[in-house]
Amino acid sequence: MQNPGSDPNVSTSGRSSRASRRTLLSAALGAGAAVAATPILGTPAVAAKAPARSPALTPEDYEAHGYGLTSATSGMVPVTFTRRPLRDDDVFLDILYCGVCHSDIHMARGDWGPPVYPCVPGHEMVGRVRAVGRAVTKFKPGDLGGVGTYIDSCRTCANCKRHQEQYCLNNGLVMTYGGYGDTILYGGFSDRIVVRDRFVMKVPAWADLAATAPLLCAGVSTYSPMQHWKLTRGQRVGVIGIGGLGHVAVKLAAARGAEVYAFTTTPGKVADARKLGARQGILWTDEAALQELTGSLDLIISTVPKAYPMQQFVNLLHVDGTMINLGAMDELQGISGMVLAMGRRSIVGSMAGGTREMQQVVDSCVRHNCYPKVEIISVQDLDQAFDRVISKEVRYRFVVDLSTMSR
Ligand SMILES: [Zn+2]
Ligand SMILES: [Zn+2]
Repeated sequence: MQNPGSDPNVSTSGRSSRASRRTLLSAALGAGAAVAATPILGTPAVAAKAPARSPALTPEDYEAHGYGLTSATSGMVPVTFTRRPLRDDDVFLDILYCGVCHSDIHMARGDWGPPVYPCVPGHEMVGRVRAVGRAVTKFKPGDLGGVGTYIDSCRTCANCKRHQEQYCLNNGLVMTYGGYGDTILYGGFSDRIVVRDRFVMKVPAWADLAATAPLLCAGVSTYSPMQHWKLTRGQRVGVIGIGGLGHVAVKLAAARGAEVYAFTTTPGKVADARKLGARQGILWTDEAALQELTGSLDLIISTVPKAYPMQQFVNLLHVDGTMINLGAMDELQGISGMVLAMGRRSIVGSMAGGTREMQQVVDSCVRHNCYPKVEIISVQDLDQAFDRVISKEVRYRFVVDLSTMSR
């Protein structure tokens, strides 16, 4: 069901005039992202013919096959388990693609505390709906759905009511895998999943499905802070780390009309940054380039997945500038209180995004063919993929094709 013209490895910059694209993307990816617009590329394909009624599911239907770790050091091995029976507001998805996020590695290998083993990671899923519960109106069998980093929340607190469920005030947030729900929760490196409908995003039939998957974490994790801190056209934004999250951040910020400076430790990514839409790609060691940008950036999005010396980048913030830490979950190092105070600068954090933002970023990116760059792998390649994520070889997101799972 993919549009043959939508190649996830093709940069958006070669498709049409950058100026007109930016105008359209900026309108769609800015504060009014929910507003409908005409697709600018491709013709929407006709949705798959699907039965309107859900089939009756047998116990065998709930038997899932996945790949996961049985200990922090086991490596990925086949795991079989049972998904929960379909509730009235549940959606049963056959998973088609699942992205590989750096946090999958942190979680599965116990970097953030031991998960429940066996741990089947994966929280960037796109799948096809096989069945829905009786109360579900948003999906029918044959539709496409996306699932991100969490699968439930209390749904009644003030933050859930305003669709910022990732900050559920009642401790109701349920991450996609690594802990317990009714039983152990398993993620998207598996062939099927059952999720409450509110936490399943609609994916258009004409989407590039493999390239849509990373939008469910990398996409919304960078889109949400751009919305919250109101990144607008003409602002100067830094993106630190050009990896899975960082390369999406560069694309989304450029699409909003921001002037993007991308900072990397990898010489080979300096040129890539410009192709992704940055005004400049800069090596961390390029002191002259950093000096030139001192005091000039409105916003910095830090996607580096561990603590690092941040001060050299905090120095780049303008008065009232904000550094948003997305990746480092350990102690931040060596920040000068003086530099923060003298320019009323802030260092803040942000996690994932709400369900409304998740739907917005999927809709906008699909509509405007603004996709992450992905490399599709087999489920058997996951160990090697984890190593290549850690060694920064991936360009820029691995996505597992779940049709490679043997049953
Ligand atoms: Zn993630
Ligand atoms: Zn809540």
